[in-house]
Amino acid sequence: MFINGEWVQAQSGKTREIMNPANGQIIAVAAEGDVVDAQNAIEVARQAFDSGVWSDLSPAARASFLFKVADKLEERAEEIAHLETLDNGKPLRETRFDVADAAACFRYYAGLVTKPDGQTYHVADPMQAMVVREPVGVCGLIVPWNYPLLMGVWKIAPALAAGNTIVFKPSEVTPVTSIKLFEILQEVGIPKGVANLVMGPGATVGNELAENVNVDKISFTGGTATGRSIMKAATSNIKKISLELGGKSPNIVFADADFETAVDYALFAIYANQGQVCAAGSRLLLEESIHDRFLERLAERAQHIRVGPGTDPQTEMGPLISQAHMEKVLSYVEIGKQEGARLVCGGNRLQDGGLDQGFFMEPTIFADTTPDMRIVQEEIFGPFLAVQKFKDEADAIRLANHTVYGLAGGVFTSDGAKAMRVIKKLRAGITWVNCYHPTYNEAPWGGYKQSGIGRGLGTFGFDEFTEVKQININLQVEPIGWFEK
Ligand code: NAD
Repeated sequence: MFINGEWVQAQSGKTREIMNPANGQIIAVAAEGDVVDAQNAIEVARQAFDSGVWSDLSPAARASFLFKVADKLEERAEEIAHLETLDNGKPLRETRFDVADAAACFRYYAGLVTKPDGQTYHVADPMQAMVVREPVGVCGLIVPWNYPLLMGVWKIAPALAAGNTIVFKPSEVTPVTSIKLFEILQEVGIPKGVANLVMGPGATVGNELAENVNVDKISFTGGTATGRSIMKAATSNIKKISLELGGKSPNIVFADADFETAVDYALFAIYANQGQVCAAGSRLLLEESIHDRFLERLAERAQHIRVGPGTDPQTEMGPLISQAHMEKVLSYVEIGKQEGARLVCGGNRLQDGGLDQGFFMEPTIFADTTPDMRIVQEEIFGPFLAVQKFKDEADAIRLANHTVYGLAGGVFTSDGAKAMRVIKKLRAGITWVNCYHPTYNEAPWGGYKQSGIGRGLGTFGFDEFTEVKQININLQVEPIGWFEK
């Protein structure tokens, strides 16, 4: 772990073996921190923030550190992508993209922080009224295992750019690329105590970040149940909170859509990163008249997806993150059958051809679902697609919004006005027309309903790491005379 500019073990001496989900091999042994380690890191981050060693630097000076981080991420891109694939399992073509995107995110916020901000107002009195943004303070940042590096960078880059100090906790199962990132933060000379890395379980280290009164802001990405627990813990000192949580996002295909484009994106929407994507298009809504033909083509293509180790250049889909997670996803195959849905393809663990030590699963599709089935309502977080049939535009919108989540959604149609009508009715924060999944550092990321609070990325994501202050400057300095004597 990296605390106060030093690489340290957990105080307890505890460690955790980090496993490659493609073959069960141990690829690293990581420090396993505890509450006391989290408390030390928070204390250090508090002192660093209060000293002004980082927040008092000019934005341009902070930006120059962040630009260097981006450069070094690019220099080490192959090494880091490779490590991410070993740790998380996803194919190299995805981890290469993640590292490039992480570098771009650092550059985006390094650039943003030197641009004009704030507001001025014309008020009734002889006053100069203005609003400025200031860093929020010590930020606890907690991320999941599905994009270990990128989810971290989405928080670390804006938090540091805004002048905060941080305590970062990666998922306990995927700490490897976070360690590499903090090596880079050390190399570029970020002052001691400004950026701290603590590893360990959510229930101890994560909860301490959410509860500790010296943490001013908690920014969390992960499951909705965990988000609920973090929200409660954060009441201790009324922390500012940002939560990016789960989803069960609808991908809606109308009969007038470009057929092959829609099929192609439907596959990408659910099977990229093995379906372990918060914004995955895990519900495919098909208009009645194309339902059977679309499903047939989709299943045919799904069965051709090459599943294997992420390090194999031929691999199109890697393993799930762990045995426990694979078993959870497979359990939904049984649930789907019991609920009376039809298994169209997949549904099994893959063990042939040297895959038996890893956690591989076939791309899976269920059809003939009803809206209240668990496989339609619950986030499964795997290569598992639930198909729903709709009659018309109103029906599509009703089904699309019929979950507790509201993270993302897509619509495929060649009718531009219809696309816009549907998108405007979707209760979701991230939407696409005739595509699915593209994400940009410039645009806000986050969800409606139980998919979260606040937004990451873009200027919105930057604002989440700031406090807003109004300043009123009297231009006529004389007594007000409110009281006579
Ligand atoms: P998770 O909620 O189990 O864990 C996420 C992180 O929170 C981990 O670092 C974990 O150690 C920590 N944690 C666990 N319990 C905690 C607690 N009580 N207090 C504080 N921290 C705690 O999620 P996961 O299984 O690692 O990731 C999958 C989930 O993440 C999915 O639900 C997915 O939708 C969500 N996710 C959301 C987004 C988004 O942007 N909305 C992005 C990626 C993943």
